[in-house]
Amino acid sequence: MKNLWSDKEAEAFDTDLDLRVYTSNLLGQSDELVLHGGGNTSVKSVVDGEGILYVKGSGWDLVSIKAEGFAPVKMLKLLEMAELPNLSDSDMVSGQKEAMIDKSAPNPSVEAILHALIPFKVVDHTHADAVVTISNSKNGDRYIQELYPNFLIVPYIMPGFILAKKINEMTLDIDWEMCEGIILHNHGIFTFDNDAKKSYDKMIKAVSRAEEFLSENADIVFDKIEPTDFDIDRLKELVEKEKGYDIEIKVNQTPLALHYASQENLSHFASRGVLTPEHILRTKRVPLILENKNIKKALKQYIKKYKAYFKKFATDEIMLNPAPNYAVIKDFGVVIFGKDEKEVNILNDVVEHTIMAVLRADKLGGFESLSLKDSFEMEYWELEQAKLKK
Ligand SMILES: [Zn+2]
Repeated sequence: MKNLWSDKEAEAFDTDLDLRVYTSNLLGQSDELVLHGGGNTSVKSVVDGEGILYVKGSGWDLVSIKAEGFAPVKMLKLLEMAELPNLSDSDMVSGQKEAMIDKSAPNPSVEAILHALIPFKVVDHTHADAVVTISNSKNGDRYIQELYPNFLIVPYIMPGFILAKKINEMTLDIDWEMCEGIILHNHGIFTFDNDAKKSYDKMIKAVSRAEEFLSENADIVFDKIEPTDFDIDRLKELVEKEKGYDIEIKVNQTPLALHYASQENLSHFASRGVLTPEHILRTKRVPLILENKNIKKALKQYIKKYKAYFKKFATDEIMLNPAPNYAVIKDFGVVIFGKDEKEVNILNDVVEHTIMAVLRADKLGGFESLSLKDSFEMEYWELEQAKLKK
């Protein structure tokens, strides 16, 4: 993993926030660290004598975030919220908004409380592919423990208030000076320091450790495959019918996609869940799998299964459109469905990173992602549902 820090570039930034913007952009430049809105960063500063957490605002990407993309939130309020016995994520978001010193700033990240709890000036959080790939493998707990002996390792918990609360409890008695970072299983990694460069360096170093482990233990050689024929127009037409609107598609026949689509028992192989929780909001948990030419039947079955999954876990949620967001087609490749070109390109990136992780985790004994229940909770998160109910 390349360290992109430049002393010369960094010289131009003298405020906490400007330097924070700089290293956030550096993190954002590596697709292997964060993709399309993934990850978040913060810096603790003082404004008019009051402790303020500048934390990534929602709707911003680390690669392009600017100073105005950071939400300035009162530290005291965030730390108070961390002590509450219960708090819904919607109440957390409104509490965080009330505690902002600039009401025109974007909504703070849902991880703001967690950032506030970490007693260092600069906090970096990414969904590094290499770390999450190892964590999402069958022996992930053991490998992560061995690779990161001085990290706090947290079992999977849904992002938001309950995760912050759990970390608050786990760190009551820890010596933070001895803690090199935090790994959130099936989700990502945090590094921190009082110095922006050091926090960034720690992230690059920690992720490089995972990358080296993967290149030694989970190297992939792509099979050479000639794609078969497939009636892509028919697929598009049928998916459009199910979605109820016109879609844009993208056919991915890169060596990676073809290698993936040529695996045996595809319906199990390619249906093992997402790389990091928030991806489920883009790709759904699983794709449509086509192992023969009967598209209509496979699509009907997909929708039936999706509805059963919804019914199993739903209480009062509104069901999302049950049609798939991408397909894996035996010996043909991967096909992405989106509402426009921008969306298909984002989905395609997410899917490529996911399938690479699946292939590599299989070399480590098998890819294992979130449970069905945890997947549902993320997909039907109250904050996402609130957008629908509006
Ligand atoms: Zn995250």
